[in-house]
Amino acid sequence: MATYTCGDCSMSVKDLTCGTCGSELIYAEVGENSVGVSQCPNDHGKIKSPMCCGSDMSVE
Ligand SMILES: [Zn+2]
Ligand SMILES: [Zn+2]
Repeated sequence: MATYTCGDCSMSVKDLTCGTCGSELIYAEVGENSVGVSQCPNDHGKIKSPMCCGSDMSVE
């Protein structure tokens, strides 16, 4: 299970899932700037990773 955590505070977000198939979203980095996204393993799309304190939350 992927848990997103903020480096600046203790905020964490857990278990993002795809609304279409219910699969857990997989963390990935895309593009030249390695933007963190969460994508469906079944290609239903992707969303920007959660943000907190002005920066992307990361997956440990
Ligand atoms: Zn934070
Ligand atoms: Zn899906």
